[in-house]
Amino acid sequence: MIKKPIFFKSWNESGIKRISDVMKFNGLIRSKEDLANEFGIHIDIMKYNSLISAIPSKWKQCVKKSNISCHTSPADGEIIVKLRKGNKNVLSTQCKDYYKEFVNIKCERPTALYRWEEMYYYADFDWPVLFKIPYKFTRETDVQSLQFKIINRYIPCKENLYLWGKESSDKCCLCNEIDTIEHFFAQCSYNRVFWQGVSTLVQRALDINIKLYDLDIIFGLPGEEDIFQIINFCILYGKKYIFDCRINDNIVSIDRFKSKLKNRLEVEMYIIDSCGIRFNTKKFLLMELYDSLCS
Ligand SMILES: [Zn+2]
Repeated sequence: MIKKPIFFKSWNESGIKRISDVMKFNGLIRSKEDLANEFGIHIDIMKYNSLISAIPSKWKQCVKKSNISCHTSPADGEIIVKLRKGNKNVLSTQCKDYYKEFVNIKCERPTALYRWEEMYYYADFDWPVLFKIPYKFTRETDVQSLQFKIINRYIPCKENLYLWGKESSDKCCLCNEIDTIEHFFAQCSYNRVFWQGVSTLVQRALDINIKLYDLDIIFGLPGEEDIFQIINFCILYGKKYIFDCRINDNIVSIDRFKSKLKNRLEVEMYIIDSCGIRFNTKKFLLMELYDSLCS
């Protein structure tokens, strides 16, 4: 069998885009005349036959056996797909709806989230929002994946390395406290000085009053406004900087971090310019931050 894609431009332009468009409510294939009347185009019999015969019977079988259930509404005869987010007419259901549904069926809640909730029982974790924070502004996948590892508690802090049998001690080599994930990124006395420097930088640049608590550093600040995205940008890059310092046995330095951040901001502003965006709040805030780093 030749696996060649089929594309009929005139059919696509008249609205025949999905397999459901050539099927009736009861799952049977629609006739050539039926399609011509419905979509107002001339249907070539050769094209019609080639398309209908190209739909694999396996696909129809898959839909029948799928975990996603359909039922016919007795009121108007339309086929409804029952999805977790609500019912949807089969004709308006898209591939991405099925994809999300299958992902939801497969996916399991990471055990790390239960651990965070147990440790910080007083905190209100909005996980869907917290998971999205690194993808809102940062572009580098290593920064995004670091945050993903933090949420999943997969960080080579001494406490974890000791639990995994890779280290003989769970103590921080800098201050001799237990090196938890929070200690690794926030609570170590060296990190405290570093984050104080980051807070001062952000306050001066963006003219806001902000105090970064441990959970703000670990997860970022949930908020849609541009200013939150800029602060989260600084927090994410700060954590990446701390991570690299720890892995390479370097002491964190706010001055070295500022220099790295300045270089990154130049790249971000160049990207905004090259995308043809003349001026927006995000660029304004980035420029304020950049000016503050230069002064
Ligand atoms: Zn320490």
